[in-house]
Amino acid sequence: MADVLDRLVGQDAAVAQMRHHVRRPVHAYLLVGPVGVDLHEAALAMAAALQCPTHGCGTCATCRRVLDEAEADVSVVERAGVTWRVEELREAERVARRRPLGSGYQVVVVEDVELSTTGGVATAATLLKSLEEPPERTIFLLTARDLPAALDTLVSRCVVVRFRALRPAALVAALVAEGADADAAAFAAGAANGDLRRARVLVRDPALAERLAGWRGLPERLTSQLSGVMGLVDEIERGLDAAMAPLVAWQADEAERRRAEDRVPGARATGRREQEASDRREQRRFRLEEIAWGLRLLSEVYRTRLVEAVGDTPGPRASERARASLRALELVAEAHRRLGTSLDEVLLLSDLLVSLAAA
Ligand SMILES: [Zn+2]
Repeated sequence: MADVLDRLVGQDAAVAQMRHHVRRPVHAYLLVGPVGVDLHEAALAMAAALQCPTHGCGTCATCRRVLDEAEADVSVVERAGVTWRVEELREAERVARRRPLGSGYQVVVVEDVELSTTGGVATAATLLKSLEEPPERTIFLLTARDLPAALDTLVSRCVVVRFRALRPAALVAALVAEGADADAAAFAAGAANGDLRRARVLVRDPALAERLAGWRGLPERLTSQLSGVMGLVDEIERGLDAAMAPLVAWQADEAERRRAEDRVPGARATGRREQEASDRREQRRFRLEEIAWGLRLLSEVYRTRLVEAVGDTPGPRASERARASLRALELVAEAHRRLGTSLDEVLLLSDLLVSLAAA
């Protein structure tokens, strides 16, 4: 039967490395993978494999508590803003110094550590001392999308486990194996950017095709009128809200399943609150992914325009169209870069649409 690590579909190399390490762990791991790879799921799976008496069976009380984020000796450290603040990382250090309540480890999960560098100053340096001289039974599980140079020292203190983006074919195979219709699976996989959990939500979403058409049709509807732009942004926001519905419904199903299961002896009363925080984090990630998908669709439209302009009869009109398409592609790429660190998606989208209308 598949254990917790087997559930990380399409990550054979990373899984083999983790499987080796959970039996004789070192004190810090850094899980690295591109946007789309569910590093949160990977960190929890590794935490379960570390705590479980049989290294991650997936079915025992310990595994279930860890995966449901209700295990006292596995802490996912919270941050309030987009980037990490020093005080928040000090909280991670404080948790790391606690002795585990059970017979396993004190596992401290800190996600997105690349967001701990501001202006070249690595806030993550706060963690260095703990990583150098950790308490005996403490294990850090850090995650990052990429590894900026400012994190070099931190990286050198960890065993790095690399994950790769899943190819659409792997997503389709996983969805079909779970009972999805092949066409719906292919459509959802195309919009999921290598992210299996996102694909699982999208395959249940009847409005996916409509949102795809909405993003693709956006360039045709741009206007220099600010009120027109705000109308388009409103429409996108409503689409994003609607896109969240299948995820929220799924989270509710999972909560129901957890309630229906026999409550595990020793389950913490705080489990529910932690689960809600985890659900909210997932909703935030899903929303960002949805916007990133929209931006990729916009890029496709402008790339097609560029190719058409280049293939056109040479002349001032063709070169003007090529220039405008290139400019639009740059603007979309810039919005994509800002996405991870922008607090205000409405501002980001309206900035983008205003600049695209002028391009
Ligand atoms: Zn287990």
